[in-house]
This record gives sequence, structure tokens and C-alpha cells, in this order.
Amino acid sequence: MKIFSGLKDILGQINKIDGSIYLKGKDFADVYAKNIALEEEIAARTKELEQANQTILTLNSVWDMMNSSQPLSSMLDKIVSILHEDMNYNFAAILKIENENNAECFLKIKSCSSDKTISKIYSYLNASEDTYKLPYLANSIIAKSITERKIYSTPDIKGIVKMFFPALTQEQFEEITGAIKSKSCTIVPLHNGNDNFGCVVVNSDRDGITDTEQNFLSLFANQIELAITVAGLFEEVKKQAITDPLTGIYNRRYFEDNIVKEAERSLRLKQPFSVISMDLDYLKRINDTYGHQYGDIAIKTISNVLKREARSIDIPARIGGEEFNLLLPGVDSKGACIAAERIRKSIENQVIDTIGGITASIGVATFLEHSDRIDELIELADQAMYKAKMNGRNQVQVAQNNNEVDWQKIAIETFMDILAKKRIPVSESVALTVTQKLQKIQTEDKNANDILYSVVDIISQTYNRMYKAGTTKSKILLAVLIAKRLDLPKEEIDKLKVAILLYDIGNIMIPEQILNKKEPLTEDEKHIIHQHPLIAAREILKPITNIQDVIPIIENHHESWDGKGYPANKSGIEIPITSQIVLLVDSFYAMSQDRPYRNAYTIDEIIEIIKSESGQRWNEDLVNDFIYVIKNEQLQ
Ligand code: GH3
Ligand code: MG
Repeated sequence: MKIFSGLKDILGQINKIDGSIYLKGKDFADVYAKNIALEEEIAARTKELEQANQTILTLNSVWDMMNSSQPLSSMLDKIVSILHEDMNYNFAAILKIENENNAECFLKIKSCSSDKTISKIYSYLNASEDTYKLPYLANSIIAKSITERKIYSTPDIKGIVKMFFPALTQEQFEEITGAIKSKSCTIVPLHNGNDNFGCVVVNSDRDGITDTEQNFLSLFANQIELAITVAGLFEEVKKQAITDPLTGIYNRRYFEDNIVKEAERSLRLKQPFSVISMDLDYLKRINDTYGHQYGDIAIKTISNVLKREARSIDIPARIGGEEFNLLLPGVDSKGACIAAERIRKSIENQVIDTIGGITASIGVATFLEHSDRIDELIELADQAMYKAKMNGRNQVQVAQNNNEVDWQKIAIETFMDILAKKRIPVSESVALTVTQKLQKIQTEDKNANDILYSVVDIISQTYNRMYKAGTTKSKILLAVLIAKRLDLPKEEIDKLKVAILLYDIGNIMIPEQILNKKEPLTEDEKHIIHQHPLIAAREILKPITNIQDVIPIIENHHESWDGKGYPANKSGIEIPITSQIVLLVDSFYAMSQDRPYRNAYTIDEIIEIIKSESGQRWNEDLVNDFIYVIKNEQLQ
């Protein structure tokens, strides 16, 4: 019995334990289920976090890109690649609306992920991404998304393919759409300020889109819109930096940058290019007669002709107020002359309200043909243009080959002629020394300038005891620098150089006792001295053929701006500018040297003296340029 009841006890206890084990097992299953739910929750949250993280990274890389001032096209390519590769969309494209407000409206693919299906479509249609116009249908899901500014998603990818590529045959259509794995297509509208830009299109494996994805896509769209605005502004600024605001054609800077590139190319390929230099005729008269706004219209008319007549690779530019240049890559002087003549005629044929007609003078110079240096080439084109002005305007002139020899040749021939024909009274030995020196230049061609300067020294010392040897070089340099600041053409500068060598040669005929007198001159003596420009011009130089253009410079080199000079009392612009430069240069060097009756002045003193006579003895503009050169250029 005892055993029995003992067994019963044990059984009771076993049951109890069993019950408690059962209860514990139930608890354990509950805990287990809870754990699984928790794990799922954690996995979902982690995925969300990863997605958020990816979103931030993506937005961040778009942001970085915007700060890198890339052109719009490369920004859009990057955005498409982020969507396709980082965000795992099967396909992504950015479409832009063109001609939105007229019947020609269509969508253009600005960027698109590389996709076999699209390539196949284009090959079937014999089209390309760059040229194909996607139809923009008013009631389509695309138009709805853009005009309502809302994201739309559709499973009907086939419908979109049909809409965009209606020319596919049924068979091609079936093949194309059969290969598409995506289940939905989402359209995200893009705007640029108040204007519609277009949309982003993404295809994915998922059915439709979740709220999170929608949020992400609209954030992403905002970033793309910012990128579009920034890139647009950047392009605008870039355009402004290279265009002239009045005419919309290129500015001087752009022209200069490109002529450098063109010259490099030209030297490499041994192919010429040409520059056409053009200046409107009588603009001042148009401004004065009809007002500045009509002057502006004349300038715009010229630039419109240039735009119209130029090829797409040519570079038309406004270089200054009424000066234009046209760069013609690959064109020789013959071709450039034909182009220049066509432009000249076209300008002549323009009829402008109130003004009537306008004309322009044109110069042509060709790289490798006339010069192989850019600065020289531009100067030659300008010089040819100046010649066109001098010859009566409204015409084309071609540059002449540029070489230093021109002015040296004239100077050498002149000295040879003077000595051979005994036009000046110098001793046999001086004549012999000088002739030998000149012959040396002709045979050796080295240090030609220095030899020429020494010839001037030798001849000048025969009649002028105060003459200081060694100054000719600096005088020429000073005169040339002033002339360049005044934009004188090379032809004029060459004449000026010869004039500096010869301007005082008339003094050789003045009696020595007058020329070298220490006491003040009598009126009669002054009159004799005042003849020296005429003696040079009319007695010594007149018979020499190739110096004729230089003679007026020498004849007028003692005339004064206010009419109080000599020998003809000319005033203002009656006096050639080159003669005015000679007088200023001569006075500057005379003042900087000792004289029997005074010591040399300092540079500052000379500047003050010249300034004090500005507007009287000298043309004010010339004085300003002279002071600029003296203060800023190295003259030794
Ligand atoms: P030429 O046939 O010798 O070239 O005579 P021109 O009157 O055209 O030449 P000049 O160099 O004597 O005068 C140029 C004038 O062009 C002076 C200047 O006021 C005017 N000008 C320069 N830029 C502009 C501009 O942008 N608009 C207008 N309306 N006039 C300008
Ligand atoms: Mg002009």
C-alpha cells in the first residue's frame, strides 16, 4: 500500500513536472515567436536605414557635382548613372521638352542609361539618341506628370514604348517589349523655376512605388532641378564672358584666345589661316548726325552681316568700338579676299532706317603667308585696313609681307643717294667712311640698325657740335612706343623711323656760326634756322624717289599744335601726327642734355615742362601717351 501510495505520489509529481514543462515550452515558443518578429522588425528598419543612407549618399554626390561647375550634359549623365547603378533602376532617362508652346513640341533624350533595348529600337528606326524626337502627347501620363507636377507610376511600359516609338512594326514592337523585364515605369516631373524642363523616367522590377521611394524620387528631382539651374547659370556666365553685349558676337578676349590655338594648329599642320580686320567708315559722322543710337544700329548691322556671312568654324569678334575681326581657319589669302569682298558688298547693300547705307574698310592678312607671328599678323591686317581707308574706304586690301628691311632699305638708299650725288657738304673722308658702313650693312645684314645709327651720328657731328652721339636708338624706341600707343599702322611707324634718322639733316646747310652760337639768336638768324625742315624736305630729300612719303613728316616736324611753330604755322590736325611725335621726341632729348646756356633737366622736370605746354605746343592726347610711355616703358 505504502509502495502504491508512494508511486502515486511520484506519478503526481511527474504530472506536475510535465505540466510545468509544458507551460515552460509554451513560454519558450512565445519568446521564440517574439524574437522572430523582433528580428524581422530590425531587418526592416536596417533596410530602411540603408536606403536612407543610400539616399543621403546619392543626394550628396549630386550636390558635390553641382559645386564642380560641370556642363549640364555631364551632370545629367552622372545623375542617370546614379539612378541606374546606385539606385538599381533597370533603366533611367532624363527627357527635355522642346518647343513646348507650339505644335512642333517634342521630347528629347538629354541622357539615358546605356540600354540594349533602346539601342535596338534606334537601329530599327535608323535614328539616334541625339536626333530622335519623342512624341509629346497632350493626354499622356508623361504630359500629366509634367503639367500637374506630380509623380506618376504605371505598369503599362508597353504603352509608353508604343507612344514614344510609333514607327516600330508590330513584330519589332513585340520583340522589344517581350524583352523588357521591368514591371513598372515611374515619371518624375522636372521644372526649371516656373518653366517645365521635362521629366525623369525610371523603370523598376517592383510593382509601382512605395511612399519612401516616392519621397526619395521627389527629393532627387529637386536636386536635379537645382543642378539644371546651376549649370544653366554657369553656361550663361561663360557665354557672357566671351561675347560682346551690344552685338552678341564674340569679344576681343575670345578672339585672342582662339587665334593662339589656331596659330598652334596652323604651325603644326603647315596650313594657313586668315584674319579679316574691318572698320566701319565714318561712324563719327553717323553719331554726330543722327545720334549715338543710330551709330549703335550701324555697328549691330555690321556684326549681323559678319554672323551671316561667316562659316560655323569662323570666329567673328568685336575688337573695339567699331572694329571687327574675323578669323578664318584653314583659309589662305586668296580665299580670305573672296570672303572679305563678299562681306564688303553685303554691308554696302544694307539699308538702314534713317541712316541709309553704310560701308566698311577691310584688311586681310594670312598666317604663314604674311607672317608667322600672331601680333605681327594682326598688325598687318590692321595696316591693310588702314590702307583701304587711305585709298578711299569701302574696299578690301591685302597685307604686304612684313619685314624690318623695308625701312632700313629706304634709309640706306637715301644716305647712299645723298652721299653719291653730293647733296650735303661733307668731307671726302666722312663720305667714304659712311659709304663703307652702309655697304657693310648691305653685304653683312647684321647689326644693320646699329650701323645706321652710327651713320646718323657721324653725319650729325659734322655740323652740330652739341650733337650727342648714341641717342638715335633711344629716340626711335621712344617714337615707336608712342606711335604704338596711338595705334598707328606699321607703315606709318616705318616712315617715322626713317624720319627720326633724317629730320635734322637740313641743319647741315645752316652756317656753323649760327647753328652753334651761344648768345641769343637775332630775328634774321632765327629765320635761317627755321628753314632747316624746308631745306631737308625740298633740297636734300626731294629728288630721292623712295623717301617721298617721309618728306611731309620732316617738313612739318617743327610745327606747333597752336599754330606758333615753323615753317608754315600749321596747327592742330593739319600737322601729321608723326611730325608731332618727332618734335616731342626731339624736344625730350634736347631737354635731357646739357647746353652751353643751361644744364640738363631731370625726367620729372621735362614731364612738367611738357605738361605745362599741353594743349598749346602739344596735342593733349599725345602728351598723355608720351607721359605714359616715359613712366612705364624701358627706354634704354
Ligand atoms: P573712319 O572711316 O576713318 O573709320 O572714320 P570714323 O568716323 O568711323 O572713325 P573715327 O576713328 O574717327 O571715329 C570712331 C568713332 O566711333 C568715334 C567713337 O565715338 C565711335 N564709337 C566707338 N564705339 C562706339 C559705339 O559702341 N557706339 C557708337 N554709337 N559709336 C561708337
Ligand atoms: Mg571708323
